[in-house]
Amino acid sequence: MLSGQRHIAILGSTGSIGRSTLEVLRNLPERFIVTALTSNSNIDLLGEQVREFRPRAVVILDPDRATTFKRTAPAGTEVLTGKEGLLEVVCRSDVDLVVNALVGFAGLRPTVEAVRHGKDVALANKETLVVAGEVVTALVASHGVRLIPIDSEHSAILQCLLGEEGNPPRRLILTASGGPFLQTPTQHFAKITVQEALNHPKWKMGQKITIDSATLMNKGLEVIEAHWLFGLPAEQIEVVIHPQSIIHSMVEFVDGSVKAQLGLPDMKIPIQYALTAPERLPLNGGRVDFPELHSMTFFAPDRKKFRCLQLAYDALALGGTAPAVLNASNEVAVEAFLAKAMSFDRIPSLIAKTLESQTIVSNPALEETIEADRAARAIARTLL
Ligand code: NAD
Ligand code: MG
Repeated sequence: MLSGQRHIAILGSTGSIGRSTLEVLRNLPERFIVTALTSNSNIDLLGEQVREFRPRAVVILDPDRATTFKRTAPAGTEVLTGKEGLLEVVCRSDVDLVVNALVGFAGLRPTVEAVRHGKDVALANKETLVVAGEVVTALVASHGVRLIPIDSEHSAILQCLLGEEGNPPRRLILTASGGPFLQTPTQHFAKITVQEALNHPKWKMGQKITIDSATLMNKGLEVIEAHWLFGLPAEQIEVVIHPQSIIHSMVEFVDGSVKAQLGLPDMKIPIQYALTAPERLPLNGGRVDFPELHSMTFFAPDRKKFRCLQLAYDALALGGTAPAVLNASNEVAVEAFLAKAMSFDRIPSLIAKTLESQTIVSNPALEETIEADRAARAIARTLL
């Protein structure tokens, strides 16, 4: 091991963010050693990753796939399974930094365990902060670890705030591509197909976040994520539609100055920054060509048409367990839409009804948040 090398565990290494993280790490062997990789069930891709990066441990959520994988796993790679395996691997002494690229609520406990064991976390799993932002940020502070966002908007804000200690921001302005249905009339929403909704104009991502981007729930989740990461109230966090996705977000200061971070829409940029911040290292890829870009446009999101964005602001205003309920019912709704069991236009109504049905607990402890998630899922499923 070279001095200064960091040991890294990637949760969800077979997903979109996980694969991009490995692409970044492939070029930084002198900086990072991959010690653990995890996957839900994609053992073929995981096998390829293991042969290249030689981690000491892998976790495969599905026990049958784990058994199959063990037969061919290279000597020296331990195979763990289940949620317990995920929680175990993040605590190990040969891990300094955990990249959480899991999708959904499943990412919460691994983040909490990693922080409790003194690990830095590079966080793509925004649901962690949506569901339990208060608990997680308090744990991060008390354990003195770093929680660095991978989400491009939050990475942009982090970069804009560098060197501004003592200058509190007046507004955070999150940019949104607007997704594929920006120009689609609301009357057509009931007929939107899964295939149409999965066809994002700017980013190639996992299915869940792609549907969230089509409903603008993704931006709503990001408003809540920004609230916990940067400590600003909802009134000071705005969303602007910027279809070109070149400005990744902006910060306005008290003198009216606005700082922005720009770049091509390529998640490798915020991923690498999360791993090396505040240092910047070379990264191959396209560069913004301004004359070619010609123009950048901006407009306000329509919160009546994209009700999910409004629902996220409402949940943040309600506070307590409301964002956990929002997230749980959204996960149920997205799953149902992807399974063709519910139409696209019903996603916000299901979330709104679930929110109305639940008693919100203020200042919840972690277990109360987990219980709120469970109860909201159960209700949302009956409302389907
Ligand atoms: P994805 O679906 O492509 O990958 C998810 C990964 O997690 C896979 O490796 C899968 O095997 C694993 N996984 C899924 N469910 C699991 C479970 N219940 N338990 C354990 N492992 C499980 O998702 P993604 O697009 O890479 O997104 C990951 C996270 O990053 C999400 O929270 C998303 O909102 C966030 N994010 C993604 C992007 C992007 O460009 N893809 C950008 C910003 C933020
Ligand atoms: Mg984002």
